[in-house]
Amino acid sequence: MRIVIVGGVAGGMSCAARARRLDESAEIVVLERGAHVSFANCGLPYYVGGEIEDQDALLVQTPERLRTALNLDVRTGHDVIGLHAETREVVVRSTAGEERIPYDALVLSPGAAAARPPIPGLQSPRVRTLRSVEDAVALRERADAGVRRAVVFGAGFIGVEAAEVLALRGIRTMLVEWAPHVLPPLDEEQAWPVTEELRRLGIDVRVGVAAERVVQGEDADEIVLSDGTTASADLIVLAVGVRPDTAVFEASGVACEHGAIVTDEHGRTSLPAVWAVGDATRSTDPITGLRRPVALAGPANRAGRLVADHILRPETARPIPQPLGTAIVRVGTVTAAMTGANRAALERVGIAFRTLHLHPNQHAGYFPGAVPVHLTLHIREDDGLILGAQATGGDGIDKRIDVLATAIRNQMTAPDLIDLDLAYAPPYGQAKDAVNLAGMLSANVLDGTLQLWDARDLDSVRAESLILDVRTMAEVATGAIPGALGIPHTELRDRLDEVRSAAAGRPVRLLCASGVRSAIAHRVLAQSGFDSASLSGGMMTLRAVLGDHAGEVLAVSEDRQAAEGRAA
Ligand SMILES: Cc1cc2nc3c(=O)[nH]c(=O)nc-3n(C[C@H](O)[C@H](O)[C@H](O)COP(=O)(O)OP(=O)(O)OC[C@H]3O[C@@H](n4cnc5c(N)ncnc54)[C@H](O)[C@@H]3O)c2cc1C
Repeated sequence: MRIVIVGGVAGGMSCAARARRLDESAEIVVLERGAHVSFANCGLPYYVGGEIEDQDALLVQTPERLRTALNLDVRTGHDVIGLHAETREVVVRSTAGEERIPYDALVLSPGAAAARPPIPGLQSPRVRTLRSVEDAVALRERADAGVRRAVVFGAGFIGVEAAEVLALRGIRTMLVEWAPHVLPPLDEEQAWPVTEELRRLGIDVRVGVAAERVVQGEDADEIVLSDGTTASADLIVLAVGVRPDTAVFEASGVACEHGAIVTDEHGRTSLPAVWAVGDATRSTDPITGLRRPVALAGPANRAGRLVADHILRPETARPIPQPLGTAIVRVGTVTAAMTGANRAALERVGIAFRTLHLHPNQHAGYFPGAVPVHLTLHIREDDGLILGAQATGGDGIDKRIDVLATAIRNQMTAPDLIDLDLAYAPPYGQAKDAVNLAGMLSANVLDGTLQLWDARDLDSVRAESLILDVRTMAEVATGAIPGALGIPHTELRDRLDEVRSAAAGRPVRLLCASGVRSAIAHRVLAQSGFDSASLSGGMMTLRAVLGDHAGEVLAVSEDRQAAEGRAA
């Protein structure tokens, strides 16, 4: 059997390697347009930044090593320009000319190319993308050559990584994103710590604005933004998303949807003996049922392996699982990660859900270095099925999101998280891990032990309720909701009459720093007959939701302002 694979990186090479392990007799030909196979796309930003010093470290494999180790016929510089399903052949162009290569099984893993929106001026030589080893080498050379000002278009995962490494190289960097916040797949409150960290790194973050045009100049290009402002740059990085690199296959009759190859659960396309995997395909979101691309390395690698199984062992091959879109990114000292559905996707399909926020420490509070895990959990309204999770913070974000991704894959409810027996010692976690605590919080919410209110409802809550702030007076002085009544939670039991009189029949809406003390206060009030609810995630979540507007909304006490003025 001859298996021909188009694309020699994540999905394609996983398929080739697995096929060889299953069948010593198969002829396996990998056709790769570029100069490299099996290169580390995901490592490219770190090469630009210099954290990965040596370019060779990006080349995980070479055609020679693949020939020796796996007897693969890997042909770089071979561009597949046609597909004839009737004769089962692909047309390939290389320096040797054009040839037709027959196949018994064809696997398409051509990936995606950087999207190029119709922004006038993008043909400027100062505009670069970050997709290939050559792109990364060119960017690093530009940075080495003394670029002073860079503008990155797009604050998705690659744009944020690119902005960070440029800023760390001392380049004055602006990051432009048309969505209302950076890392648009995250919910706004989870994106905020990333914005703050980007700013701490010196990056000028502009959200809610689009790049309208690039005007080529002698010494630098000028970028005109949709808010009327301009920026000047020696280097522009275009990172506004990707589009499946499938034109040649669509033109050859492979069924596509929005340019992405349509596949079934085994990766089969509309043509016989043709499979497809990776960024070139679309998949179904297992939570929302929405069809969308998932341009991530894990799903591409795993699908490549499963397609090899289906070609060579169809009776036992497992279907390709629907990816949850579990993703993670490091920005300075902050890690942000997500799995499953976000708020926008759930609202789009009309799934009734509740959102929980919590900020437990990543390890025991008494052990040095404890920092919060800012955790958001979306759970199904009626039964608490976990629909999605996001987390930002320092250490331990990867661990929590991976546990939650596993829980979602196994269709666990949030209260099931209480029972997870997770590893604990003070440097690593807490006896009640952040994930267990999320389960406990959800159980309380689902059975009515705890009522929550959401920071995004602040305006209506202020209009209709008494806001009761149960933090200490020192905490209140750092920023409080104007008009809120302040009673530390330790004094609440003795001051219920004060609350009753201030509420004057209105509901009482509680808040504290993270939602823990206000939950205790809620139990006190609820058992005393108040209509009470606790702010989900407390002031930490409220500040993240308010973002740049926190200063306008929250009142800082005059004493504190004076103290800060003196310190300054
Ligand atoms: C800078 C960067 C950082 C990333 N970081 C992460 C990360 O941290 N985590 C993560 O999960 N994912 C990350 N990704 C995404 C991840 O790399 C992709 O999802 C994954 O590589 C997709 O695998 P694939 O096989 O579909 O395509 P690719 O790995 O892109 O491989 C496709 C190959 O096919 C070749 N090709 C295309 N058309 C043809 C043709 N007609 N003939 C011959 N060859 C062809 C291309 O030259 C390319 O080499 C990152 C991507 C980039 C660019």
